[in-house]
Amino acid sequence: MKELSLDKTSNSAATITRDVPCPFCGILCDDLVIQNQGETLKILENGCPKAISAFETKLVATSPKINGTTASLDDAISAMSDILKNSRTPLISGLGTDAGGMRQVMHLADKTGGIVDHMHGDALTRNSLVLQDLGWITTSMTEIRNRADLIIFAGTDATKYPRFFERTIWNKKSMFKLKNEERQIVYIGNKLETKSGINPNGKRPSVLSCKTEQIGEVISSLHALVTGATLDVSKVAGIETKTLQSLADKMKAAKYGVIVWSPSELDFPHAELTIQNFCEIVKYLTRFTRFAGFSLSGNDGSTTANNVCAWQSGYPLRVNFNKGYPDYDAQRYSTRNALKNKEVDSLLWISSFSSNVNPPRASIPTIVLAKPDTKLNFKPDVFIPVSTPGVEHTGQLFRTDSVVSLPLKKLRESSCASVHSVLKQLIERI
Ligand code: SF4
Repeated sequence: MKELSLDKTSNSAATITRDVPCPFCGILCDDLVIQNQGETLKILENGCPKAISAFETKLVATSPKINGTTASLDDAISAMSDILKNSRTPLISGLGTDAGGMRQVMHLADKTGGIVDHMHGDALTRNSLVLQDLGWITTSMTEIRNRADLIIFAGTDATKYPRFFERTIWNKKSMFKLKNEERQIVYIGNKLETKSGINPNGKRPSVLSCKTEQIGEVISSLHALVTGATLDVSKVAGIETKTLQSLADKMKAAKYGVIVWSPSELDFPHAELTIQNFCEIVKYLTRFTRFAGFSLSGNDGSTTANNVCAWQSGYPLRVNFNKGYPDYDAQRYSTRNALKNKEVDSLLWISSFSSNVNPPRASIPTIVLAKPDTKLNFKPDVFIPVSTPGVEHTGQLFRTDSVVSLPLKKLRESSCASVHSVLKQLIERI
C-alpha cells in the first residue's frame, strides 16, 4: 500500500490510498485510488458511479436506538440480548457483511437456534440448486480476461457490475495475446443495454431478443443444435432457427466460450431450470472445446455469506440451527417463507454495504444493524449503526467467482462499531 501525500490546497493532510478493493459489487475491483481528507473520501482513479456514490457519502453521526430513543451501544447490545434470549427461533437475515461478520452470524445462529438467510437469498438459491443437482463447470474473471473468445450474456447486460466489461472483457493486455477484435459478444434476452458489448474497434455484438423467461427454451434449442439435431420449427421464442444454428456453430468453433448469467436478474418461477440449461450445454460443449459458465453475483457480500455458511455448516444459506444441528431447506427457510409461516419469533437484519435496503416489516421484535445513513421505513425495537467493511474497517470478501477472497482496507475512522464487534459482544451476553 503506497500512501500519504499532502493536499497543498487545504490545511489538513490528505491521505491517498492506492490499490483499494471496492466492496460495493461482487466483482471487487481492486485498483481504486482514494483520497481521505478529514474523513471525507474522494475517488481519484478507477471509480464507477456506484463506487463514487458509496465511498463519497459523508459520514453521518447516528447513535444506537432502542424503540426510537437514543441509547448507548452497551444498552443497545443488552436490549438485543434480551430479545434473542427470549426468542425460540430468531431469523438472522440481510447478512450484508464481510467474512468476519458472517463468522459471528454463524456462531450466533448456532447459539440461539436461529435461521440464516441473505437479502439476495433467492438469487443464491437459484445457483445452489443447480450446483447441488447436476454440478457445473464455471470459470473465473481472470480466465475470461485471458482466454474467452466467445462470451454469451444470457439475461444480463452486467450493468449492475459497472466495470465488468472494462476489467474483464475489453483488456489492454491478455496473457495469451488474445486480441479484443477476436472476441465475439452475444446477448440473449430482453431490454438489455448492449452498448458495452461494442468492441473498441466498433464491432457490434450480436443480439438475440426474447423474453427473459424464454431464455431457457432458447438455450435448450441451442443444446439440441450443438448435438447435431435439427429443429422442426422456423423460430424459437421469436428467434429464427437459422440464427440459432449460426450461434450453435460459433459455440462449437470457439476456443474458449463462456455463458454469463446473473441469478438475481433471472427473477421468475423455477429460473434454476434455466441456469441448469446453461450449465448442461456448457458440459456438452466441453466435448469439442473449452466452455464454462460464469455467475455475476456477490453484491452485499452474498458470495461471502454463502461460502462462510457452507464451510461452517456444510450447507449453503437457508439453514436452521433450531434442532441443535444444521437443517438446510432452500424454500422453507427463506426469509419470506420463514416470516410468512411464522417459523421465527424475532428478526435480526444486517446491512453494512447498502443504505437503501429496508428489512422486511414483521410483527415480531426486530433488531437492525445497518449503515448510519439508512432511512428505515419503520422503527425497529433496536437499531445499531454499523461501519462498512472496506471503508471504515478492514475485512475480507469473496469475489463473485469465489476463486479470490480480497483483503479490504480501512480508509477512514468511524464512531460506529463493526458487525463483527457488535455480534461478538452480543454472543458473550447470551
Ligand atoms: S464495478 Fe463494482 S466493484 Fe468495481 S468499482 Fe464499481 S461498484 Fe466497485
